[in-house]
Amino acid sequence: MNKKYWQEEIETASREEITALQTERLQETVKRVYEKVDLYRKRMDAAGVRPEDIKTLDDLKRLPFTSKQDLRDTYPYGMFAVPLTDVVRLHASSGTTGKQIVVGYTKHDLEVWDNILARQFTAAGIGKEDFIHIAFGYGLFTGGFGVHGGAQKVGATVIPVSTGNTERQLTIMQDFGSTALCCTPSYAMYLAETATAEGVVDKLKLRTGIFGAEPWTEEMRRQIESMLHIKAYDVYGLTEVMGPGVAYECEAQNGMHVNEDHFIIEIIDPETGEPLPNGTPGEIVYTTLTKEAFPVIRYRTRDIGTITHEKCECGRTFVRMSKPRGRTDDMLIIRGVNVFPSQIETVLINLGYTPNYQIIVDRVNNLDTFEVKVELTDDNFEDSVTALARREKAITEAMRSLLGIGPKVTLVNPRSIERSEGKARRVIDKRHLHD
Ligand code: ADP
Ligand code: ZN
Repeated sequence: MNKKYWQEEIETASREEITALQTERLQETVKRVYEKVDLYRKRMDAAGVRPEDIKTLDDLKRLPFTSKQDLRDTYPYGMFAVPLTDVVRLHASSGTTGKQIVVGYTKHDLEVWDNILARQFTAAGIGKEDFIHIAFGYGLFTGGFGVHGGAQKVGATVIPVSTGNTERQLTIMQDFGSTALCCTPSYAMYLAETATAEGVVDKLKLRTGIFGAEPWTEEMRRQIESMLHIKAYDVYGLTEVMGPGVAYECEAQNGMHVNEDHFIIEIIDPETGEPLPNGTPGEIVYTTLTKEAFPVIRYRTRDIGTITHEKCECGRTFVRMSKPRGRTDDMLIIRGVNVFPSQIETVLINLGYTPNYQIIVDRVNNLDTFEVKVELTDDNFEDSVTALARREKAITEAMRSLLGIGPKVTLVNPRSIERSEGKARRVIDKRHLHD
């Protein structure tokens, strides 16, 4: 029988206990970064805040924000708070949105990381008996090695396959008996499609999946669950803060518990920087509480989400964050209307399509054009031109009613949109080419 919690005492601590721990750790962290990291000291001096001014958690908002640009400007080691001799591992962001940044970990940082992922595996009912198939990329990307540490920690049998070679992945799953799959949701979808096409789903022993590193909708979760006959959990994280595991989903599958003994989450108005009340969507900001090598203070993630302090049926008391619906950078403004790719995904799956789509935005004669390429499946494939046109129109209308703006929809052949082994690239915005 697997454990219900990995570290029950802290995972179910009272709010008073969590607040006391966070306050103490925040004070230590602020003092440390003030002493060790030039950028933090200069920013705090400019804002007129001294480490001793941080008396309660409420004082957090007096501290300046840290941005991705700050991490780029201090590349490679300017934000490290320990001597490089104490750093035992480096990772780098995958560079989805620009120049990469590099982060470091001490031995203690890696222990913390292993434990928070062990919490995730335990919460998903994964333990010693499991064969954890890790198809996140191993390398500078935090996905592979991050999840690996936690998988080993819970005593499971780890299968470090990394990404790529989908056929081989499926063979290994069958031969080695993988019971839990870890990868991006788009790669899980691709594996599911391939397994279905080859008729091997029933030969798999998979029962659970831990997916993350990119936005995915509830609809996509249900699709992956039904195609692979598994329960799929969401895991959130980012290189700058730690990597995967900053927040983890429990059996309730209703938001991810933030590891509050190691991180503080805030939701702010991205325009004004003011903290927003619980439940209001805004930009997610993280402060680390125990990171030694690469602490961050009020790091603006650019992810958009909400938090709730409502009691969770799993018994964990950590605050929950919603599935982020995307980054502020992913949000497209098309003819003045805000569009998130996740909204398009919801409409498509509800209409019976797959999450294989591509959004193409351009500017012609000073007017934005908005096109969505949608893949047909073998089940809904149609030869008749009128039937296709009818389908395209129905999708356009469904999107118009949700978004207030209707794209030109083009249906394309099954399997013709490029699949991703890591993070899917669903948006092609050609507008900046004309600027
Ligand atoms: P990069 O910033 O180069 O893509 P990361 O691998 O650090 O490198 O990516 C972290 C980002 O991935 C997060 O800021 C968030 O936008 C996205 N992400 C990670 N996990 C999730 C998740 N479960 N749901 C939605 N988005 C996620
Ligand atoms: Zn829970």
